[in-house]
Amino acid sequence: SKDTGKNKYTLFDKSMEDELNRNTIILEILRGAIENNEIYIKYQPQINIITNKIIGFEALMRIKSGKLGELSPSEFIPIAEESGLIVELGEWILKEACRFNKNLMELGYTPYIVSVNISSVQINRTGFITMLDHVLKETGIPPKYLELEITESTIVSSITDAVTLLNSLQDLGVRISLDDFGTGYSSLNYLTSMPINTLKIDKSFIDNISKNRKDSLIAEAIIQLAHSIDVEVIAEGVEYNEQLSVLKAKNCDIIQGYIYSKPLYPSRLLAILDSVQ
Ligand code: C2E
Ligand code: CA
Ligand code: CA
Ligand code: CA
Repeated sequence: SKDTGKNKYTLFDKSMEDELNRNTIILEILRGAIENNEIYIKYQPQINIITNKIIGFEALMRIKSGKLGELSPSEFIPIAEESGLIVELGEWILKEACRFNKNLMELGYTPYIVSVNISSVQINRTGFITMLDHVLKETGIPPKYLELEITESTIVSSITDAVTLLNSLQDLGVRISLDDFGTGYSSLNYLTSMPINTLKIDKSFIDNISKNRKDSLIAEAIIQLAHSIDVEVIAEGVEYNEQLSVLKAKNCDIIQGYIYSKPLYPSRLLAILDSVQ
């Protein structure tokens, strides 16, 4: 009947309104996250597949607010990007991750590489390189122990002159990692013209690598091409032994995933590093 239709329509409006309200609250939380200590980092170890040793860790942004509790990055990162707040939050993460890693070195740990995700919004701001240079100097981290994770789609479709930008990053001495590889529409050919140190095969290829012949062949091709141009390969989202075996057989270099560890509070990471030193 006409009534039911009208009701449905009202419900639809209501849920849209709820979502709008939630986004508005999240925006407010993000705006005050640094000042209110509601932003922090978890670190996920990256493991050399042959030696089984931790070689580095990825810094992952976390927001926990009094109002909404723990928020998922898949929900708050897009809001941070749309509003431009990712510039400020991303700079905070970068500085904090560099400080943390430099501190580990000073405590006498074998040096690790810390990886930090960089949004396309950040990298396209004029002043990004200057900001990065400033953070390197201020924290005193040797640039080769910082890796910037930039997604394949950012490099292919969002940066005007990607080669020039990546070259100036390389000039600063930081490492560059191509994140979420395989999900975009890059040509492998394109890759060979970029100063890239690491390539991360996206979890969506890793998921079925032990069951789906096509996925395992794609992974193999990516690894071989990467190695031919001296690029290291990280498999992300590795969860099972079956996946690990395939990746070993295909000469993947580094694994990151729940099979080894979830992202950790800094204190938990330190405890693990202590136990393996
Ligand atoms: P990403 O860069 O691809 O990060 C890897 C994501 O996979 C992380 O999710 C990590 O917790 C998750 N992961 C790792 N191993 C496994 C596994 O074995 N199984 C499963 N199911 N998941 C695994 P997280 O922390 O929720 O982050 C999601 C995305 O949010 C990131 O994807 C990245 O795109 C973005 N993000 C996180 N932190 C930052 C940041 O500081 N800056 C920017 N710009 N983006 C960030
Ligand atoms: Ca990443
Ligand atoms: Ca990734
Ligand atoms: Ca991903």
